[in-house]
Amino acid sequence: MLSKPLPALTAETLERCGVSAALDVAGGLQVVSPLTGEIVASLATHSAKDAAGAIDTAARAFRAWRLVPAPRRGELVRLYAEELRKAKEELGRMVSIEAGKSPSEGLGEVQEMIDICDFAVGLSRQLYGLTIATERPGHRMMETWHPLGVVGIITAFNFPCAPWCWNAALALVCGDPVIWKPSEKTPLTALACQAVLERALARFGDAPEGLSQVLVGGPELGEALVDSPKVALISATGSTRMGRIVGPKVAARFGKCILELGGNNAGIVCPTADMDMALRAIAFGAMGTAGQRCTTMRRLFVHESAYDQLVPALRKAYASVTVGNPLETQALVGPLIDKAAFESMQAALREAVELGGTVHGGQREPVESEAAYYVKPALVEMPEQAGPVLRETFAPILYVMKYSDFDEVLEEHNAVGGGLSSSIFTTDLREMETFLSARGSDCGIANVNIGTSGAEIGGAFGGEKETGGGRESGSDAWRAYMRRATNTINYSSELPLAQGVVFDI
Ligand code: NAD
Repeated sequence: MLSKPLPALTAETLERCGVSAALDVAGGLQVVSPLTGEIVASLATHSAKDAAGAIDTAARAFRAWRLVPAPRRGELVRLYAEELRKAKEELGRMVSIEAGKSPSEGLGEVQEMIDICDFAVGLSRQLYGLTIATERPGHRMMETWHPLGVVGIITAFNFPCAPWCWNAALALVCGDPVIWKPSEKTPLTALACQAVLERALARFGDAPEGLSQVLVGGPELGEALVDSPKVALISATGSTRMGRIVGPKVAARFGKCILELGGNNAGIVCPTADMDMALRAIAFGAMGTAGQRCTTMRRLFVHESAYDQLVPALRKAYASVTVGNPLETQALVGPLIDKAAFESMQAALREAVELGGTVHGGQREPVESEAAYYVKPALVEMPEQAGPVLRETFAPILYVMKYSDFDEVLEEHNAVGGGLSSSIFTTDLREMETFLSARGSDCGIANVNIGTSGAEIGGAFGGEKETGGGRESGSDAWRAYMRRATNTINYSSELPLAQGVVFDI
């Protein structure tokens, strides 16, 4: 049990973030902390009419914000990073209360927000296009990048704030207002992030009204953003199920979409791997955040020569890992988000057993509150890749399989729907380079001698196939938030046509 009742903790935390929303609205959206299963708030939700109003306000904000010089837009994001640094502890705590993460993971998520803001500030002076050689004399050709329009950001429960900021920080410097539809399981963190942004906006001074807004409620509010032709870009983070609905709807109205969906991430442990390092990387990648990261390691292929060394060591790590309330104890593994997550984990384990799998762990851990779901992470030795191994179950299950041939294991690695993250553990240069080559991992993230999770903001984040193909955060991900124009300027006194076409009148 917590030493103080959670609602008080939540209220205090929100107050320190500057949130003024009423937390006990009768019949409102019930926010449950997975730490104890307690209802920590009941929030007023937005209606479809509110969503339409927010979109109209954002569209008006766009007309003004697009004209503000990009480095000045960057100044707002710089101020936001300053405010985030001041509010880091409170926001991190809110992430722990709402998503059940350990304090270091909660703080890490806020640090990611700060990092992307810093990145975006630099970017605000680097939104440049190319100058291109033209075939026509006395001409110049170039491309320019312009603000795109309103950006709708839909996010998942397991990262309640960082993915919003990956989008929002870039969108704001690119000249786009943002409307955030957070997960209905984690709206408090969103309100807190928005309140901290309001402080930066107040210091900034002349930003248009409605530059950043939050819509509290369920999928129907996400749908309102998805369906509106006034929302130029939808960035949606969540399950592949959600992406299958959102992607075609946005495409049907020729909107732009960034889809960041589920993964089924794997590691390959080769004969020459540093086994101690692999063990630690796999343990964090598979059990960290109670298996509720999109990049969680879910499949592990171990070479037959290393299997009897690595897998018993992994079993030992699984047996000894501490599970419990991370705000009250030093536990490394916190709770599952809810009962449904627990039930889908148990269903997957039963299916694995029917297919010949041997399950180690996976049982519910007793805690005082019946409404909180803590589990021992499960290590499942499978005879082959089949059944639940082929799909993402959003819980701490690691399926382990033996392999003998490197080319075959590459095929197996890529033979699933998800295409987000992947790792190889090897000190063999040929294996490493092959894994990173065109015939290697087909994922958006391919790592060597580190696990599948824990990406940095400097690289573009996202994956292929059923992960949706979107890219966010670093590298050139900013381009998705702008529109590109190709400009040709004739400074000669002739009018030559391209491709030698003649049209004399
Ligand atoms: P979810 O798909 O249930 O919900 C995600 C968000 O989508 C929520 O805000 C929800 O309200 C909204 N939504 C649901 N249906 C919608 C619809 N029809 N139209 C518009 N919006 C809709 O996902 P979740 O359970 O919150 O999160 C877990 C999933 O998210 C996992 O599959 C995980 O792998 C994935 N995820 C992916 C990434 C990534 O970057 N690739 C990051 C985090 C989580």
